[in-house]
Amino acid sequence: METKGDTKPLLDVKNLKVDYSAANGVVHAVNDVSFTLQRGEILGLAGESGCGKSTMAYAITRLLRPPGYMTGGQILYHVPEGRDIPIIHRDTEDALLAEGTIDLMDLSPTQLRRFRWNELSIVFQSAMNALNPVLSIGAQIIDVLKRHRPELSAEQRKHRALELLNLVGIASDRLSSYPHQLSGGMRQRAVIAIALALNPELIVMDEPTTALDVVVQRDILQLISALCKEFSMALIFITHDLSLLLELADRVAIMYAGKIVELASCQELYLRPNHPYSYGLLNAFPNLHGPRRVMGGIPGSPPDLRNVPAGCAFHPRCLMAFEACRKVEPILQAVHPGEHAEQGGLVSCHLYDKRYHKDDVAGSEAIAARYATLAEEGKIR
Ligand code: SF4
Repeated sequence: METKGDTKPLLDVKNLKVDYSAANGVVHAVNDVSFTLQRGEILGLAGESGCGKSTMAYAITRLLRPPGYMTGGQILYHVPEGRDIPIIHRDTEDALLAEGTIDLMDLSPTQLRRFRWNELSIVFQSAMNALNPVLSIGAQIIDVLKRHRPELSAEQRKHRALELLNLVGIASDRLSSYPHQLSGGMRQRAVIAIALALNPELIVMDEPTTALDVVVQRDILQLISALCKEFSMALIFITHDLSLLLELADRVAIMYAGKIVELASCQELYLRPNHPYSYGLLNAFPNLHGPRRVMGGIPGSPPDLRNVPAGCAFHPRCLMAFEACRKVEPILQAVHPGEHAEQGGLVSCHLYDKRYHKDDVAGSEAIAARYATLAEEGKIR
């Protein structure tokens, strides 16, 4: 990951809360989530369906629609040093807080539209839904340039469209192709080309490779990784497939029941998952290169977010649960207190809190040992 020398993060999500109002109760889809994202960093968000990861993407990009509402928190974008975004200044100075920080919640709809393509782009799961079926992909790229770069001539816009297609590995003669004339992988590449059109600092991708076969998926991941490096773009990559993130991301945040339960570098998470839920997720897919081992699932299902269990929301499914877990809600804190907060890894689990758990080491070894014992006893698969 390249940080371009800035000390400030690019994005600072603070205590974000998102609810969906339903006839039979309020769904707390994102519940007090905080994290930072550095310039050029790839952050993966993983968790089972319904854990709140896509809702978070919608909230960060301010694309949330009723019945979803942000009920608290801030989404702070720190304008990188030397990056001029007059498009925001022009309308109003109000949205610019001290020291070049913008709270995305303060942007007007007009400012947001400009901000989204210039600073922040979004790539969603189904390219077919994201592309206009009656316009060629060239026309769709040019359309973005026309709207946001009116100073460019028609020739310059076409030149940039070809440049973008080239960047994502689509031949120039496809400029006039319609979405239905492209394969699934090419359509997803075209959507990525559109997202890159204005050189944004940050891209949010929500399950961008889920509908693709594994070979195309791999090509697209390599493309995304190369583009992030080439342009030092930050990326929030959302998927239910943790194995994808381990190849792509710098850090991974594991979500459960609307909260981040573990945040660590890929290497740390892979080698030493500290949260029992992370351990369960990693244990649920085969390791092609390491020694053979028994795979296990995670018993039970994610909770109903209208009625989350008291204490730790994971406790009804947790093989490590003890008395405190049923009563006290854990908070996200450094696994090794004293180390630089997020870099040392953060975890939300009482196993690491001396007030509730007296043993010194309660990390991945203890969780692995517990899983092995239960597997031997035939209590888990
Ligand atoms: Fe399991 Fe308790 Fe940790 Fe929750 S707090 S993950 S129930 S050990």
